[in-house]
Order: sequence, then C-alpha cells, then structure tokens
Amino acid sequence: MTVVPCIAVDIDNVVLEFQKHWAGLHDNWFGTELLIDHLRSEVNAFLRGYEVEDPLAKWDAITTKSRFDNGRDFFRWFNKADGWKTMPTIPGALGACWRLNELGVPWFFCTARPGAGMQPAEKLAKKFNVPVEFLSAADKWTIGADWYIDDSAVVLDNVRTKGRNLNGAQAIRIRKPWNDHLGPHDIACDTLADAVTYLETEVLS
Ligand SMILES: [Mg+2]
Repeated sequence: MTVVPCIAVDIDNVVLEFQKHWAGLHDNWFGTELLIDHLRSEVNAFLRGYEVEDPLAKWDAITTKSRFDNGRDFFRWFNKADGWKTMPTIPGALGACWRLNELGVPWFFCTARPGAGMQPAEKLAKKFNVPVEFLSAADKWTIGADWYIDDSAVVLDNVRTKGRNLNGAQAIRIRKPWNDHLGPHDIACDTLADAVTYLETEVLS
C-alpha cells in the first residue's frame, strides 16, 4: 500500500507577501522608508556585493522597526489599514497550490493568522477547496501533517522534533533571513513553487 503524505502549507510569507506589504503600508501611513530601505539592502547585496541593514530581516520587525512596540497595537492598525484584505500573492504561489490540486494529494492551509486575517485565509482555502486550520506557530506541529511548508523558525523546529505524534515530521523551509540559522542541513526552497516541485519529484513520484 502506498501511503500518501498530507501536506500543511503556511500562508503568510509563503503564499501571501506579508513583510513587504506591511512595510509599504506603514511607509504610506506614517512616512517611514522601511520598504525602500529593504529594497535598497537587496539591491546592494545583489549588485554591489555588500550588505546594508535590512529593516525587514528579522521576524520581530513588526514591533522593532514599526512605530508600534507590541503586536496587539501593530495588528490593530494593520486591520484598520485593510492589511489582511489587500495582501498580494507571492509570484508563482497560487500556481503551486493549483499544482497540488492537480497532483491530487491531501493538503491544507495551516496559519497563525489572528482575528481579521482569518476571513481572507478562509477565502483562499475556498478557492482551492481545501481546509484551513488556525493554530499558533508554537502549536502547528500538533496538527499531525506529514510535511509542512513554512517560513517560521519556531514551526520548523517543532515540526522536526515533535511533529507527527512526536516522531518528527518533514519540513520544507521557505528561505527567509529570519530562518537562515536553520540551514544548511535541512530541505530549503526559495518559493512555494520550488517546494511543490521538490515534493512532486522527490516524494510523490
Ligand atoms: Mg509564515
């Protein structure tokens, strides 16, 4: 009997562009230059070979780089700014979800989105006719998927050590500056599209 693995796909920074989106909104509302500085740092690293500080390099930038010093106030503003509703997709990500459907494997969205972020997440799940589970990053491992595609270091760590009933599940790390320290000995991909291609060629074939 072939066992078909079940795949949990994270939403923010995997399917939808959270970091650059909130930074751009914040710049627009408050006149900061977070997104501009982020893009400057990427261009410098790419063209000139040296790094300048990237304000979005750390996961806690929403409180250390924004005008808000706690998550509650940040997300209260983000909701008011329609941040959840207007978040753009990452190029190739919707096509990768489409491909998962074509492959006929069981998969679902698993996200730590709070409050107002749930509705757009549910809409996304409806689009692909899959479930969506709302769990904190610290608890995602408890859902019992075989494979997780995620960018959160907490999720990836927990999945590998405690997932699938404490025996350890498989994780594909979507490479971001805040999870760099987990490499290089894990499965890492730049995009969801690359992760799905990996699953298709290495796991499902
Ligand atoms: Mg994420």
